[in-house]
Amino acid sequence: MAKNLQSVRGMRDILPEQSSSWQMIENCARELFNSYGYKELRTPIIEPTELFKRSIGDATDIVEKEMYTFEDRNGDSLTLRPEGTAGCARAAIQHGLLHNQQQRIWYTGPMFRHERPQKGRYRGFYQAGIETYGIATPDIDAEVIAIAARLWSKLGFKNVRLEINSLGSNEAREAYRSVLVDYFSQHQDQLDADSQRRLHKNPLRILDTKNPTMKELVANAPDLLDYLDDESKEHFEGLKERLDKIGIDYQVNSRLVRGIDYYNRTVFEWITDDLGAQGTICAGGRYDGLVKQLGGRETPACGFGIGLDRLQLLVEEQKLDQSRSKPHAYLVMAGKKAELAGLSLAEKLRDNFSNLRLQVNAGSGSFKSQLKRADNSGADYALILGENEVTENTINIKPLRKHLKLSEQQTISQPESVELIGGLIEES
Ligand code: ATP
Ligand code: MG
Repeated sequence: MAKNLQSVRGMRDILPEQSSSWQMIENCARELFNSYGYKELRTPIIEPTELFKRSIGDATDIVEKEMYTFEDRNGDSLTLRPEGTAGCARAAIQHGLLHNQQQRIWYTGPMFRHERPQKGRYRGFYQAGIETYGIATPDIDAEVIAIAARLWSKLGFKNVRLEINSLGSNEAREAYRSVLVDYFSQHQDQLDADSQRRLHKNPLRILDTKNPTMKELVANAPDLLDYLDDESKEHFEGLKERLDKIGIDYQVNSRLVRGIDYYNRTVFEWITDDLGAQGTICAGGRYDGLVKQLGGRETPACGFGIGLDRLQLLVEEQKLDQSRSKPHAYLVMAGKKAELAGLSLAEKLRDNFSNLRLQVNAGSGSFKSQLKRADNSGADYALILGENEVTENTINIKPLRKHLKLSEQQTISQPESVELIGGLIEES
């Protein structure tokens, strides 16, 4: 027998059992982004490799070791997108969306990074994000953060916290950078191999290390906030003032630098302790230099990316799925006559109730096996059409779960049943 093929390591199948929580999350995010006046931008999954090198930065984990890069048949170097911000900026520049105008954009879709797979970390994963362009003031930083906060409350999340920081202007970061290089150079023996390499290339990234043996060294490093320029300080105060005003709690974490090069001023992460080590569910900030770096005009920008796989794990962990995809009813039909009558009854019910979730038995089967399928479908009710019911133009409605409005099986006329079924849908 031929060997079964398996999916590529770290790439996920989302099985039918999990798809209802995925859909709940995606629908919630989509409606929320639209409600704040953001519009969707869909970009290709494949981009020129150069795009990510120029935007994310050469000395980042993503570009150094995580990208799926390959040559196509023309010998062009292409990469499966590891994140969404670079593609959005590329598209916005290419299509002239940034000329003397503001943009509020959202996106969602699969991303690819060659990392060590573990719970909450995959090689193929999903993100949703927003990007704003052309707005330099902290009001938009606050809006972006507020949108994430509202998503958590809509999904019913408990125990998520917000950490914020400011990286300052490029000049302030340069000043801090040299102080940091001095500090880490004095403690070279305590740096791991990654950090040794970053010491001169990208020392701020050492603060972002996940290596526990370097925790103390990092904790004692000079403080970024002591090097902020006045304008960035004012910007940061403006953000905090707004978060206070709308009642969003936060912690300032001066060690928060984010793993991608393009950030300046505001950076933030939303974190939960309910998912173990992979606790960051959303990360973002301001990246005023990115558009220019990619060849566009100077354009301030701010946004975030959400790890949807982690949201889905949290929905499961906190049992927040409302199982909206289970059918209201499953139609059981005994005999050929009943099958035909059932088919037209089902279509009539669908005409009447556009939000009805009705699953119709297919592939016939004994009465008993059909009822079993009805139960397995998760439906609240079985609608049963046997020969008697067809002859008498009635239908039998059987509750399959406890605590439903209808507690006893009953037979009613088909016209009456339409009304009854309408009432039953409203209940669930
Ligand atoms: P981490 O520190 O966990 O590696 P990151 O800084 O690389 O995250 P970003 O590039 O900022 O992450 O991506 C935004 C969000 O996307 C993360 O906060 C996380 O929720 C999610 N994410 C990133 N990489 C993965 C992955 N490999 N699998 C699942 N989700 C991911
Ligand atoms: Mg990462």
